[in-house]
Amino acid sequence: MRNVEIQMVDLKTQYHRLKSEIDEALNKVIENGIFIQGPPVSKFSSELSEYLDCKNVIPCANGTDALQIAMMACGFKPGDEVIVPAFTYVATVEVIALLGLVPIFVDVNENDFNINIEALSESITERTVGIVPVHLFGQCADMDKIMAIADENNLKVIEDTAQAIGSVYFHKNATTQFAGTIGDIGTTSFFPSKNLGCFGDGGALMTNSGDHAKQCRMIANHGQSEKYIHDIIGVNSRLDTLQAALLSVKLKELNDFSKRRQLVADRYDVGLKDISEIITPHRNSYSTHVFHQYTVQIEGGNRDDLKKYLHEKQIPSMIYYPIPVHLQKAYNQYGYKTGQFPIAESLCKKVLSLPIHTEMHTDQQEYIIDNIRSYFK
Ligand SMILES: *Cc1c(COP(=O)(O)O)cnc(C)c1O
Repeated sequence: MRNVEIQMVDLKTQYHRLKSEIDEALNKVIENGIFIQGPPVSKFSSELSEYLDCKNVIPCANGTDALQIAMMACGFKPGDEVIVPAFTYVATVEVIALLGLVPIFVDVNENDFNINIEALSESITERTVGIVPVHLFGQCADMDKIMAIADENNLKVIEDTAQAIGSVYFHKNATTQFAGTIGDIGTTSFFPSKNLGCFGDGGALMTNSGDHAKQCRMIANHGQSEKYIHDIIGVNSRLDTLQAALLSVKLKELNDFSKRRQLVADRYDVGLKDISEIITPHRNSYSTHVFHQYTVQIEGGNRDDLKKYLHEKQIPSMIYYPIPVHLQKAYNQYGYKTGQFPIAESLCKKVLSLPIHTEMHTDQQEYIIDNIRSYFK
């Protein structure tokens, strides 16, 4: 075991497991020579649309573009307020700022790291136009409540599903829907380390609305309704044919990928549960968890020291995220201060994400768990 290097994500071993099918798909694209908008792009879109049981999937260049295109398609105008959790990856907020919209941060739940519903309700004003829940680390935000608030206040909901593709939400009425297909528009990323990752950048939008789909498609392709006819200002954001061909192969494995991640998570839960300084990830009853990250909270202020200790034992770990977005220098123009979102701020000091991926060996994981246990002994 110790001769196998432990990584946060092991894409190389995963590639070798699927190599023959992947190589064949990629070689076919290279032979055909259609690298932009080739047939594999629409093929992958319909496959993902079928998998997610969502009427429209619009591929694009990356998950950040997907968020931007979604906000443009919703018709948000400069000065409009968009509500986002303070504890997220910066991309969610970046596009809000770039479009001249005003990010309104709200705090998150201490247990599941997702947007806090009460704080969300309280932050709505006359200028609010949208909510961007982020299904952080692979588990859905409380969508029934978010959709009810959005309906009541006539707001658009854009689900940032970059970390939660394949996660299932259980509605109160006992129906289920995939993350990203519940709000007006969902967005996702195929960044290599995401749960459905390609060999470079890639992303997609999901929507059950025909109107939103049409707008997103046009915006992603220079605002074009027909070739060289530009009805609106758009962007250039396409998924490469090579990436689409690869993603068709990997999409067939997505359920298996999720299962493998969940098995790793289950083993961590068991191995770490009796350590009083560690809070293992909370699992909500209304969502499955696809464990993009396995993120524990370290009580007692030893997080950075534990990280160093693990590093010395050749065990990588990551801090997602060390600084909440409202306290990042780039966003100080919005005037947020330390202490405004105490949970997001304290999570930044306590969270530690442990290695989790589809290729993890039980003996690698035992080594990680044993070392964490001996640190706290
Ligand atoms: C990765 C990620 C994005 C951005 O996706 P890219 O494809 O890297 O642009 C957006 N939001 C969240 C929550 C992410 O994790």
